[in-house]
Amino acid sequence: MSSRSSTFIRVIKAGRGSPSPSGLRATPGVSWPPQRAKAPNPYLPGDNDMALNSDARRKIGISFEFFPPKSEEMEGQLWNAVSELQDWDPDFVSVTYGAGGTTKAPTLATVSRFLAETPLATASHLTCVGATKDETHSVIETFRKVGVKHFVALRGDAPGGVGAPYQPHPGGYANAAALVAGLREIGDFEISVSAYPEKHPESRDTAADIDMLKQKADNGATRALTQFFFDNDSFERYLEKVRAAGINIPVVPGIMPIQNLTQLKRFAGACGTIIPAFLDERFAGFDDKPEERAKVAADVAAEQIEDLARRGLTDFHLYTMNRAPLVSAVLTHLGFTREGAKKAGAAA
Ligand SMILES: Cc1cc2nc3c(=O)[nH]c(=O)nc-3n(C[C@H](O)[C@H](O)[C@H](O)COP(=O)(O)OP(=O)(O)OC[C@H]3O[C@@H](n4cnc5c(N)ncnc54)[C@H](O)[C@@H]3O)c2cc1C
Repeated sequence: MSSRSSTFIRVIKAGRGSPSPSGLRATPGVSWPPQRAKAPNPYLPGDNDMALNSDARRKIGISFEFFPPKSEEMEGQLWNAVSELQDWDPDFVSVTYGAGGTTKAPTLATVSRFLAETPLATASHLTCVGATKDETHSVIETFRKVGVKHFVALRGDAPGGVGAPYQPHPGGYANAAALVAGLREIGDFEISVSAYPEKHPESRDTAADIDMLKQKADNGATRALTQFFFDNDSFERYLEKVRAAGINIPVVPGIMPIQNLTQLKRFAGACGTIIPAFLDERFAGFDDKPEERAKVAADVAAEQIEDLARRGLTDFHLYTMNRAPLVSAVLTHLGFTREGAKKAGAAA
């Protein structure tokens, strides 16, 4: 590794070591040889000093999160992104559900197209907010009929938005743990759930969050995908507590490559994600320099993944925001290539 400094890498050099969090799944069969990407991409750096070695790369599994488009223009943007990102051979992709007051229709349309037109294993997010159990069951059946085998089971936000008091529907599932139990009764689904390394905004404390995660795992969840975060030390402490609580499902870090730090700050507050000061430092002076900003964005996400991989994490869920170039740059920066990904996918 080069002498390039970063907060994540400094943490490692300062001797925090690389404890391997127990119970994390190694992803078999993914082998992306270290070659350089050919496609021009504004996010790509001139060097590649964040690249993982081939052994570390072999263990890495990635998944991508998309959201349903709200306009024709966004539709074009989504499917352009998918056509580029599918070459990275993700373990699965997921499509969000119902956020921003939308119903199941946009998610169903998007998930159906993924399943019909791409080779990608596709998970649908599902919330139980504002619905009776019967209504939720009918949604599950509809998704099952189009081929969904993997749900990301969530409570969802209160109709008044994040921070508004949450009232479960009197005839519905009370929370995500109850929804997981319901899904388990209905079918043999793969079930992912949320986890909050920096605490859900409504939670009393981290212990309450971990307790909820334990209920979800006990009820049959097979994987947790975390809210995005930037402080790897804090994530590691969280993971230690999760394991100490007897939760053994994979806890997959949610990685948010930063398309726009100012916008992200607004959004992060509502999600309970802390924006560390080092991000301001890294992006300082680049407001009017999109090319430099883009390179920093790719650096930061690649460094975060590299650092987590050194700590023993093997799976990463990338929030794509329906855009490909930055995500592709992050993966290229880590030493992956599309050609290698395709070969690994074909061999698997
Ligand atoms: C990976 C991921 C994907 C997501 N996808 C979507 C999506 O597709 N659509 C969408 O609308 N939202 C989505 N969200 C956001 C999510 O719906 C909100 O964070 C919601 O507020 C909580 O849902 P949950 O399933 O995480 O809740 P839960 O797991 O049920 O609860 C989360 C935490 O909040 C606390 N909590 C829950 N209820 C209460 C309460 N009544 N009082 C006090 N504390 C409480 C608990 O401590 C718990 O740990 C996603 C979040 C993540 C991390």
